[in-house]
Amino acid sequence: KEAVRSFTNDIFNRICRKSVGNVVGSIIEDHVLSFDDIQRLEEILEMKKAFAVEEVDCQCTEGQCDCHLHHHGE
Ligand SMILES: [Zn+2]
Repeated sequence: KEAVRSFTNDIFNRICRKSVGNVVGSIIEDHVLSFDDIQRLEEILEMKKAFAVEEVDCQCTEGQCDCHLHHHGE
């Protein structure tokens, strides 16, 4: 479990925080899950609702993603 966590942290540290939801969504869409997996995901999502935000803050460094470019365009 720890190995899984550090592996995913490694990946998710490299993508924009705004994109994490989409990435997680497509991972789930693209893979076959067991009923246990889905049960666990539902529990996690239910927990996350308590801490959900309107919009996730982008904490990327300059050049890591396109978010900064979009801000300049506004
Ligand atoms: Zn970003």
